[in-house]
Amino acid sequence: MEVNRRRAFAAQLWRLADLTRAAERRRSFRAKAYRRAVWSLDHLDPDLEVDDEELLATPGIGPGIAALISEYRSQGRLLRLDLLEASFPTESPRLRRLPRMSPKLLSQLKVSLGVDTSEDLASAIDTGAALSLHGVGDATLELWSRILALAPGPEYVAANDAWEMSRALATHIEEHLNCQVVIAGAVRRLEEWVDAIKLVVVTDKIERVEFFLAESAALAEMVRADGSRMVGRTHDGQRVVADISPPSRAGTVLIAATGPPAHASSVLALGSFATEADAYRADGSPWIAPPARGLPRDAAARVVTVDDLEGDLHIHTEASPDGRMTVGQLMAAAESRGYRYLLITDHTHGLRFGGLGPEALAAQAVELSGTRTSSCLLLHGAEVNIDAGGLLDIDDDTISILDFVVAGVHSHFSLGQVEQTRRLVKALSHPAVRVLAHPLGRRIGIRPPIDIDFPAVVEAAVASSVAFEVNGHRDRLDLPVTWIEVAADAGAVFAANSDAHRLSELSNVENAVASLQRVGVGPERVVNALPLQEFLAWAHK
Ligand SMILES: [Zn+2]
Ligand SMILES: [Zn+2]
Repeated sequence: MEVNRRRAFAAQLWRLADLTRAAERRRSFRAKAYRRAVWSLDHLDPDLEVDDEELLATPGIGPGIAALISEYRSQGRLLRLDLLEASFPTESPRLRRLPRMSPKLLSQLKVSLGVDTSEDLASAIDTGAALSLHGVGDATLELWSRILALAPGPEYVAANDAWEMSRALATHIEEHLNCQVVIAGAVRRLEEWVDAIKLVVVTDKIERVEFFLAESAALAEMVRADGSRMVGRTHDGQRVVADISPPSRAGTVLIAATGPPAHASSVLALGSFATEADAYRADGSPWIAPPARGLPRDAAARVVTVDDLEGDLHIHTEASPDGRMTVGQLMAAAESRGYRYLLITDHTHGLRFGGLGPEALAAQAVELSGTRTSSCLLLHGAEVNIDAGGLLDIDDDTISILDFVVAGVHSHFSLGQVEQTRRLVKALSHPAVRVLAHPLGRRIGIRPPIDIDFPAVVEAAVASSVAFEVNGHRDRLDLPVTWIEVAADAGAVFAANSDAHRLSELSNVENAVASLQRVGVGPERVVNALPLQEFLAWAHK
């Protein structure tokens, strides 16, 4: 299939953004501008036959991008991209996120070792060739190997990246075609790794959507597969499947596109429905949350929902170095979410980038005591750091002025299993610790989980009825679902937390709940779904 000029240019601009970001140590404003311009190209003629005046009147396209368009029109390529491609690996977006990676090292990987992909780097580590990298030791290489092995296969993208791309594409299509686009598939079911982005485009103008997707600069490729299904790839190489449905069948199409297949096929046999709820009703069932669709029906009907949540037990205010909310903003948001209680958990001072010490916590206690008047009970806690030996970084006298704390590992991620397990068990024995924050410390595709004897940690948590946090950041989802299931079987309780640092992140609790839904955990096992009095009884156990 012939690629239109606009799309071919978009592919180069996307790569230019990737490699510019790889080449710059700090956040690259140039890379951001290139990326934004790719999303703007759909305003232009597919052959890029536009004059400068029209170009500069297009949102997202300034003189720099206009110059690149004119270079591309006359040369068919971009000189700056050619130079960067010779100096940086093709898979720089992934490789640059490895710990201790720098632009200099990335470039050495390409120029000295010929590394383009993560497989290339893995084999350079295996053969020992990577030891020639300047300033990189065995421990770092070993960590890189472990991180590169986290993805289940080259076609998989981590949940957070897949979500961001899905959302960007859905918004793009909605804005250009004025129709509804719903994210489906593994992203909607909140799988940790996603092999294809799936979208359902709801419209009566099916041909118009097909034409738009076939030509859009936002995608590297998109062709009609069968019926009203379009299949293609993003500029990052990820598979995209878009089902285009009239509103009258949208519920049925969405169930099919969300999967998993065994669940979908049982509902689809019933015919065409406008909404998912209609389809389930015809099947004699209430609507089933997408993450629970892999469960037997009776188990799926009992899972915790976001509406069950009565509070959030892991929230940072602007008192944390990375926090962006005032207490007032937070309380207003908590009330509008219908929360009955809230635990403020700013970072404490043992953290590498700083946090509250005893004096600051005491001052915060005074400040918060004046705020406890609303319909939502404001509790004062902290996210304390667990040191390498399992001790907390805040003294007991200071802890005694707090309601209770969540404790988390923020350092010494690579201790051996015996030490790491002993460390967590010790921290769980502190009476003020009621929640173990992000228990495995993992970030999907970015940081491996800490090595612990999980059943031993579960036993300690159950003994003191400490809740395992399910952290709702899409790149954490920690506790992971496989371990939620093990902990639930052993009688553990959970806290579905946002770990919000800004207002928009309060909705992370939806992801935490989705993780619990995937393995069929009910509201009775979720401490922040307990009514206030029961919650307080648990907290002060
Ligand atoms: Zn933390
Ligand atoms: Zn936190």
